[in-house]
Amino acid sequence: MRKKLSNFIHGMALPNGDFAEQKFRYFTLIGVIALIIVTIGNIIIREDPVEIIALILTEIAAPLVMLISIRKKKIQVGAILIALGMIFFILPIAFFFGGGLEGCIVSWYVFSYLFIGLILEGKQRTFLLVLLTVSVVISYALAYFWPDLVYHHDRSVWYMDSLLSVLVVSYTVYLMVVFQNQLFIQENRRTQQQAVEIEALNRSQNRFFSSMSHEIRTPINTIIGLNEMILREEVSDEVAEDARNIQSASRMLLSLINDILDMSKMESGKMEIVRVPYDTGKMLSELVNMIWGRANEKGLKFAIDVDPYLPAQLFSDEVRIKQILINLLNNAVKYTEKGEVSLSIHCRRAANGRVVVIYQVEDTGMGIRSESIPYLFDAFKRVDEEKNRYIEGTGLGLSIVKQLVELLGGEISVSSVYTKGSTFTVSIEQETVDDAVIGQFSPQKYHGDHSRSYYQQQFEAPDAKVLIVDDNKANLMVASKLLRDTKVQIDTVESGEQCLKLTAQKHYDAIFMDHMMPEMDGVECFRRIREQTGGMCKNTPVIVLTANADGENRALYKREGFDAYLVKPVEGAALEETLKSLLPKELMTGSDSTVAAYGSDAVVRQIRRKAAIMITTDSVADLPEELVRSMNIRVLPYRVVTKDGIFDDGTEAKGDAILRYLADDKVAARSESPEVSDYEEFFAKELTNAQYLLHVAMAKKSSRGFANASEAALSFYNVKVIDSGHLSSGMGLMVMEAVKEAENHSQDTDMLGKNLAALKDAIQTSFIVDNTEYLTRNGRLSPWLNKLCTALMIHPVIVMKDSEMTVGGIIFGSGKRARQKYIHKALRGVSNVDTDTLFITHAGISGEELAQIRNEVETIMKFEHVYVQQASPAISINCGPGSFGLIFRRRYQHEG
Ligand code: ADP
Repeated sequence: MRKKLSNFIHGMALPNGDFAEQKFRYFTLIGVIALIIVTIGNIIIREDPVEIIALILTEIAAPLVMLISIRKKKIQVGAILIALGMIFFILPIAFFFGGGLEGCIVSWYVFSYLFIGLILEGKQRTFLLVLLTVSVVISYALAYFWPDLVYHHDRSVWYMDSLLSVLVVSYTVYLMVVFQNQLFIQENRRTQQQAVEIEALNRSQNRFFSSMSHEIRTPINTIIGLNEMILREEVSDEVAEDARNIQSASRMLLSLINDILDMSKMESGKMEIVRVPYDTGKMLSELVNMIWGRANEKGLKFAIDVDPYLPAQLFSDEVRIKQILINLLNNAVKYTEKGEVSLSIHCRRAANGRVVVIYQVEDTGMGIRSESIPYLFDAFKRVDEEKNRYIEGTGLGLSIVKQLVELLGGEISVSSVYTKGSTFTVSIEQETVDDAVIGQFSPQKYHGDHSRSYYQQQFEAPDAKVLIVDDNKANLMVASKLLRDTKVQIDTVESGEQCLKLTAQKHYDAIFMDHMMPEMDGVECFRRIREQTGGMCKNTPVIVLTANADGENRALYKREGFDAYLVKPVEGAALEETLKSLLPKELMTGSDSTVAAYGSDAVVRQIRRKAAIMITTDSVADLPEELVRSMNIRVLPYRVVTKDGIFDDGTEAKGDAILRYLADDKVAARSESPEVSDYEEFFAKELTNAQYLLHVAMAKKSSRGFANASEAALSFYNVKVIDSGHLSSGMGLMVMEAVKEAENHSQDTDMLGKNLAALKDAIQTSFIVDNTEYLTRNGRLSPWLNKLCTALMIHPVIVMKDSEMTVGGIIFGSGKRARQKYIHKALRGVSNVDTDTLFITHAGISGEELAQIRNEVETIMKFEHVYVQQASPAISINCGPGSFGLIFRRRYQHEG
C-alpha cells in the first residue's frame, strides 16, 4: 500500500513543482474524492437534498478553483477561497441539514482544521483557523439555543451518515498525513542531492582555480624570469625602465592570482595550515629584504623593532605568517605617501611553553575612517573608494589576512587615526622549539628585490653539475638562464623518464624537479631516484619547483623528503640561494658578497623600544612634575574655560593664577574634560611609545573625562580606561599605584585592572573648603547655605564616595583652628594609614600656612614622602582659595 502510494505520488509529482503546489493539489483532490464517496452514501441513505446539492456543488467548485489558481500561480488565493467555501458554505449546511452533532459534522470539522493547517501559511492560516473556530462555536451555539434550526433525521440515517463520514474522513486524514510525510521525504532527498551537487560544483570550481593558477603561473614564470635577465644586462635606461614596469605588472598579476586562489580555498574550507619549526630571524630577514626596497622606492623609511626575547625558532605555519605580514606591510607602503612604515615584533609567554607573538605593522599614511573599520576585513570592499580610486588592488587582501590569522588561532585588530596613519596588530600563539632567543636582531641580507641595481650573483660553482627536470621548455630555459651567472653546469630534461636515464649514469650535485608532469610526476620521479639501483644520484639534494604550493603540497614535499621547494614563478636570487645552501661548499668559489650588496649603510634602523604598558592620565590628577617625569606618566590636560578664552589646565592656566583671576567676582571659570577626539589623538600618539595604555580617569561621576576617554578607547584594541574613583591627588595616588602594579603585571592587564579597582576604597581623598563662596558660584551650594556657613564659620569637608564628591562633614571655627581640626580628623579617623606617601594638595595657601600644616601633620603621623602640591584649576575653581586636602591611602587587609 505504502509503495503504491509512493509510486502514485511520484507519478503525480511535478518534476520541478514546488512543495506547496504539490500539497495543495493532492489535498484538494483527496478531499474532493472523500466528498464524492460521502455524497454517494448520502444519496443511498436519502440524506437531505439540500446537503446533497451543496456537496455536489463543492465537488465541482473546489477542483475548479484549484486548477485556476495553480494555472495563475496563485495557490494561496485558491486555498483561501476553498477554505472560505468550507467555513461559510459546506460546513454550516452539513451541520444544520446533516442533523447537527449527531450527523457527520464532527469528522468534517477535523478535516477542515487539517486542510487549513497544512495548506495555508503565515497570517492567512491563523486568520482562517480563527474564522473556522468562530463558525464552529456559532453553529454549536445556534444548535444549542435553537434546536429547531437543526434538521432532524431518522436514527438510521444519522448513524449511517456519521459512520460513513468517520470512515471516509479518517482515511482521508490518514492519506493526507502519509502524503505529507512522503512529500517531506522527497523534498529532503532533493535537498540532499542539491547539497551533493553544490559540493561537486565547489570541488570542480576549486580544481578549475587551481589548474588556472598553475597554467597562468607557467607563462608568468617565463615573463618574470626573462625580464630579470634583461635587468641583469647592461641595457639602456629606457629598456631598464620598461623591464622594471614589466616586473611590477607581472608581480601584481601574480599576487592577484594568489589572492583569487586563496579566496576560493578559504570559501571551500580547503585552506590548509602546515605547522613546521622555522627560524624567526630568517623569516624576518626575508620580510625586511622584501619590504625595505619597496618602501625606499616610495621614499619612505622602513623600521623594524624585534623583541630580543623572541624565540629563535618557533613552530607554526611560517608561509602563512609571512603571507599575513607581507600583505599588511605592502598595504602600509601602498597607502602611505610620506613618513615611515614600521614592523615591531614582541612576544609574551603563554601557558604550556607557548608564546604569543605580537606583530605590529604601523604606518604614517592616509589612515582609515573609523566608520570604515568594521568593513575593513570584508572581501571585495575598498573602504575608501573615493580616495583610493587611483590605487590598484582588489580588496581581497585583508579578508584573506583575517581568515589566515583565524586559521592560525590568532587575532587581528586595527587602530587608525584618519589622515595620520594606521596600526595593524596580529597576535598568534605559537609553540616554542627550545629556549634559544633571537637576541639583538640584525637582518641578514637576501636578494629579495631584483630591480636592476640590486642584482648581485651570490656564488660561482663552475664544477657543480645541476639537472633541471620540467615538461615545459620555457621553464627549463628560464631556470637555466637564471642560473647562468653561477656558472654551474646545467643539464635539462623534459620528463621523469629522461631524468632517470641521466641519473643512472651521471652524478649531479643538485636536481631541480617540476612537480606536475604528464606520465611520471615529480614526486614519483623523486622516489625512483632515491631507490634507483646503481643510481648515481641517490643522495643528491632534490628541490621541487612547483606551481602549486598550497598547504597540502607543502606537507607532501616535506613528507616525501625533498630537500627544499621553490614556488614558480621563481626569481634568480631564490634559485641561487637554495642552490647555495645545498651544494657542497668545496664546489663554490666567489664568496659571500651578499652583505656588501647593500653597502654598509644599514637600511634597517632599530626603532625605539616600546614600553609594554604605559600609564596615562589627565592633568587633574595633581601630581608633582618630578613624579610625572620619573614615572614616565603621560598627561592630557583638562581645559579651563573662561570668558577670556580656553586654556590648557596646568600648563597654560595654573591653579593660583585662576584664583587670582576669579578674585574678581564678575568673572567665572569652569573646568572641562577633553573631548573624545582629544583623547583619540592623545592615545594614538602615546601608542607610538607603548604597546598598551592604561588611562586613569577622574571619578566618573565628577566629570565627563571617563566617558569621553572610554569612547575614544573603543577605537583602539590596546587602550583601557579605568575610573580612579577620585580626583586631584587622590586620582594621582591611583596613577602612582597603577605604575607600580604595571611593573608587576604588565602581561596581565585584566589582573592589573582588577587590582586597581580594589584600591579605590583604600585611597582617602578629602578637602577642607575655607570659603564656600566658590562652591556657591559653581552651583554646588545654595546662596543661603553659603551665607549660613560664612556667618557660623562653617567649613565643609569634601570627600569622595562611590566616585562622587559629597560633603563628608563640617568643621566649625576660624581658619587656623579649622585646619588643625581637619588634619586631626583626617589622619586619626582612619585606621591602617599607609605612611609611605602623603599629598598636601592646596589652592591659594601661603607658604607659611603650608609649613604650619606640615608641622601639624608631623605631630600626628610621620610619612616617608610628603608632596606639597598645588591643586589644578579644576579643584581651585570649585574649592576656592584657602582650601587644601590631605590625601593618602590605607593598607588593606591582604596587603598586611
Ligand atoms: P586592496 O587590494 O584594496 O589593498 P585590502 O584588502 O588589502 O585590499 O585592503 C582593503 C582596503 O583597506 C584598502 O582598499 C584600503 O582602503 C584599506 N587599507 C588597508 N590597509 C591600509 C593602510 N595601511 N592604510 C590605509 N588604508 C588601508
